[in-house]
Amino acid sequence: MPEDLPALLGGPPVRPNGPPPWPPPDPDVRAALAAATAAGAWGRYHGEHVAALEAELAASHAVPHALTCASGTLAVEVALRALRVGPGDEVVLAAYDYESNFLTVHALGATPVLADPHPDTWQLDPVRLEAAFTERTKAVVCSHLHGGLVPMREVADLCRGRGVGVVEDAAQAPGATVQGKPAGTWGDLGTLSFGGSKLLAAGRGGAVLTADPQLHQRAKAFLSRGLQQWAALSELQAAALRPQLRKLPEVTAIRADRVRELVGCLAVPGLVPFPVPPDSAPAFYKLGFRYDPAAFGLPRDLFVRAVRAEGVALDAGFKALHVGRSPSRFRAAGDLTHATAAHAGCVVLHHPVLGLSRADARQVADAVAKVYRERDRF
Ligand SMILES: *Cc1c(COP(=O)(O)O)cnc(C)c1O
Repeated sequence: MPEDLPALLGGPPVRPNGPPPWPPPDPDVRAALAAATAAGAWGRYHGEHVAALEAELAASHAVPHALTCASGTLAVEVALRALRVGPGDEVVLAAYDYESNFLTVHALGATPVLADPHPDTWQLDPVRLEAAFTERTKAVVCSHLHGGLVPMREVADLCRGRGVGVVEDAAQAPGATVQGKPAGTWGDLGTLSFGGSKLLAAGRGGAVLTADPQLHQRAKAFLSRGLQQWAALSELQAAALRPQLRKLPEVTAIRADRVRELVGCLAVPGLVPFPVPPDSAPAFYKLGFRYDPAAFGLPRDLFVRAVRAEGVALDAGFKALHVGRSPSRFRAAGDLTHATAAHAGCVVLHHPVLGLSRADARQVADAVAKVYRERDRF
């Protein structure tokens, strides 16, 4: 069996053990959970951990208010509700975005308005955003996706003074710096997710960040029914998150180093990472690329399958929100050429491998290089 035969065709994979598990084993989380369990937190409504986590989230993001809840999806809904989004309103988002943000706008009875993303970054484009505004525009949802970043300063400048609220969805970018400020702190409200795949993982969970006491109060009121919170994070979830939050800056730096290593070794055509705004440092939950099948020499689907067979967790990106959906479900603000391109051309490297060694990062590049070298065999 030739050493260089692609794994998809029966050769030996570059990474025979495949992708590492997520979340990675973490002795600090184990210790925190053991201590919380021993203290009886496992069965209680209230305790020290949720309140402490909220205080630590606020402090680490340098905002006065952080509120936890059951998911990142709910956090976006809470943020839009705090901005009083409802029937008849329009909410602008990039036509290439996480699907639940689109569905959340519908859940509130509002109309999603889809703007074409930036041609190079495939993130929300402030130029297209401005063109999407009407007198019905109530809010904008900005998501930082796949290691890319939305230029939030430009978004905030556009929305300020027009009565358009900004929700900054930092579910994929906790710990990132966007134009000199922590991701999640540029909008009127910012949101985080603690879902099972995320960089701060608790299986489920989310948070809303804000500097505005009135928005904080409205968010809190929505999450309360009488004395009870109806979609709260549990004490054990909060106990598991606290050590992860403490280590986030260190982990973010390690992951950025692994991405530099990987991208530095990646000498193949047709695979370009997203540029980021100046004075910014992404957090690499996933590492997205613009994939060009003509330059690489393989259709995207085959490229993804070939790299996966080498033991690397690579996938196609999101479906664009306008593709395969009735036009009655949204308003398109202009043409959606780049969203269609992102739909067809985005690939994302899943995150677990980015927390391992530089040698692992180089192996990912090796796997891609091997698929490129052997592309004519497929
Ligand atoms: C994961 C994710 C969410 C939602 O988070 P959940 O906690 O899974 O509900 C929202 N936005 C983006 C961009 C995400 O990646």
